[in-house]
Amino acid sequence: MIVQFGECRLQLVQGDITRQDVDAIANAANSALAGGGGVDGAIHRAAGPLLKQQTAARYPDGCPTGSAVATDGGNLSAKFVFHAVGPVWGGGDQGEPSQLAGAYRRCLELAVEHNCESIAIPAISTGVYGYPMDLAAQTTLTTVRDFLVSHQNPKRVNVVLFDGGAFGAFARVLESIIG
Ligand code: ADP
Repeated sequence: MIVQFGECRLQLVQGDITRQDVDAIANAANSALAGGGGVDGAIHRAAGPLLKQQTAARYPDGCPTGSAVATDGGNLSAKFVFHAVGPVWGGGDQGEPSQLAGAYRRCLELAVEHNCESIAIPAISTGVYGYPMDLAAQTTLTTVRDFLVSHQNPKRVNVVLFDGGAFGAFARVLESIIG
């Protein structure tokens, strides 16, 4: 599913984010930048040890929830990885939506700062962090839409959903917000 916002294209893709042909990939990291399972594990496995070397050297204090930090892409075809820290779901009244939005906004700002035309982003916080998929889709897609409308950059954003359930939830929400 593809939606255009001015010169910018937002596309929903089902698959593995490490296989995306883009300038930058966003990672769903933890605030210690310690590495983990899920999409974080897949990205570190595909990229190799450079990412951990750079996060340890550049960000010894980690990254706060609701923000993101950059490394190179190592063995990935992407030039950069933006390690974003989403919130752990705690029922929705602990600031989770604004923290999730902040994590995505920082990734998009980093893409612009690093002159990336394209970025792939996963469904941050929807795995072990427990964020309900439909609520995550709402915050994620409105945040990306608002950023693209106001900045007209990056030119291409691929939202990469790992399975059919996540893809369906994001597709329904995308239809409703452009409706
Ligand atoms: P979090 O700790 O932020 O919840 P997870 O990695 O546990 O992060 O899950 C985030 C989302 O990433 C989940 O929807 C999960 O299905 C998805 N995911 C896991 N592996 C991949 C991958 N290789 N590519 C894209 N998405 C993935």
